[in-house]
Order: sequence, then C-alpha cells, then structure tokens
Amino acid sequence: MLSYRHAFHAGNHADVLKHFVQIEIIRHMAQKPTPFWYIDTHAGAGLYALDTGYAAQNAEYRDGIGRLWDRDVPDALAPYLETVRALNPDGQLRHYPGSPWCAHLALPPESRLRLFELHPSDFTLLDDNCRTLGRRARVAQEDGFHGIKALLPPPTRRALILIDPPYEDKRDYLRVPLAVAEGLKRFATGVYAIWYPLLQRAEMQALPGALKALPANSWLDVTLTVKTPSNDGFGMHGSGMFILNPPWTLKNTLAEVMPFLAETLAGDSGAGFTLDARES
Ligand code: SAM
Repeated sequence: MLSYRHAFHAGNHADVLKHFVQIEIIRHMAQKPTPFWYIDTHAGAGLYALDTGYAAQNAEYRDGIGRLWDRDVPDALAPYLETVRALNPDGQLRHYPGSPWCAHLALPPESRLRLFELHPSDFTLLDDNCRTLGRRARVAQEDGFHGIKALLPPPTRRALILIDPPYEDKRDYLRVPLAVAEGLKRFATGVYAIWYPLLQRAEMQALPGALKALPANSWLDVTLTVKTPSNDGFGMHGSGMFILNPPWTLKNTLAEVMPFLAETLAGDSGAGFTLDARES
C-alpha cells in the first residue's frame, strides 16, 4: 500500500537537512573530473509547487526552507539556497526542488541520474518533470531497494546513492540496512546517504546502530532535532542523515552549519543536533 505523498512535506526541516547534505556530497564529488552516477531509490515527484496543492495544505515548508529564505546564512549553506533560488528567480518562494532536481542542478554535465519511484501518481509527475533532462536521467517505476542491485557498481565506478524511503511501512527500517549491505558487497566504494526520521519507535532507534555495524571504512551520522519529543510518543521530532563513505570535508561543513540550522529551525527549546563519525 502506497499512501505517502512527499508533496505534503516538501521543503520542511527534514528536506532542508537532506537536500543540504545531498548537495554538499555532490559538490565534493564533482571536484574530480570523472563523471559519476546519482542513484535515488525513492525519488518522489522531483519538483513541488509550494503555494498550491498538497504542499500548501499544511505548509510545512514555512518552518523549513521558509525560515532560511530571507536570512543571511552560513557560507556553507549558500549552494543549497542557490539551488532553491534557481527555481524561484523572482525571489518569491513558490517552488521547491526534490532530491532528483537538487541532484540535476548540482551534478556535472557528464554525470547521470538513475531514479526509482513506485507511486503511480508521483512516478508520472517525476517522468514528466524529467523529460527536459533527456538521456541524462532515467526514471523507473520499480522498487528502489530492488532496482539498485542491477546498477551497482555503475560503469564510472563512482556514485552517490540516496536512500530516502517513507518508513510508513516499518519493514523499511530493516530493508534499508539490508539494501546497503548488499550495495557494499557489489560496490564497496560508493557513497550511500540514508535519510531517517527521529521518532520514539524502537525500529527507528535501532537503524543508526545497524548502519554503523556495516563493513564500511567510514561513516557520518548527523541528526537535527527541531522540537521536544511528545509525551504521547507519536510524531516526528527531527531527522537524520547517515552517510557511509562520506566526503572527508563533510564533517567540518556540518559542524559549521548545524548550530545555525538547529537554532533557525527550532520549534521549541528541545531543538538541537548531533554529529557522530567514524573516520578511516
Ligand atoms: N527523495 C525525495 C526527495 O527528497 O525529494 C522524497 C522521497 S519520499 C520521502 C519517498 C518516496 O518513495 C515516495 O514518493 C514514495 O511513493 C516512494 N516509495 C515508497 N516505497 C518505494 C519503493 N519500495 N521503491 C521506490 N519508491 C518507493
């Protein structure tokens, strides 16, 4: 059953963390001349309107990208803000780039996008949005956990793999470490970036530990808490990004930016961040 629609959440605090980290990784990888692949196992629709439709209903973006839009931000956040500004050239925040579009705008010309999206409506939107990208992007209406197997290792032997499931089905908490373990067997040097929600659920709390136990030389785990966990145990109080084989510069960049994000995106005094890493 597929009920999740990312449009409801486009541009929220979790998207800010995810897309900022994603763009940083791509910018680092783009410093080498060899092209690389960007693989998105759960791509969503690609582009979102913020002022109409689902995104406008709860307007979650107002407490996400909306809080950064007219602010002076740390230099390291500028490439992310410029990516969103590229879609809003008149200065009014009306459009938001999903992970495929963040990748498209940040990737060097010779690099390629391989995108999976299972939901029929979001797949159609993604497919339409990607038409302008021609052969640079391939879109598949397939299970991304399964679909990446055939792509690893990619021909260029360089790739960022973003794994960003909805976790509405709690089996996603098990499928993520299994998919990464399988990926590392096929392609040990890939950069794997996993987004996860911060919830008071045992399955969620076990996920970072399961990822840390995988046989990668290095990893980085960053979390952004925006509010105090609720007394009833329900709801998301923040999110995290877990990166295996991260760029060596990412930890310092996050150390510079996370205090600003935690303060600017705070919903209450429980806001904060954590940054943990194992370096090779
Ligand atoms: N990565 C997107 C972004 O940052 O813009 C957001 C993706 S959203 C969190 C998760 C997406 O995964 C949803 O659009 C959902 O329809 C899709 N999905 C759910 N299960 C899937 C699966 N097994 N394979 C591929 N897509 C799936």
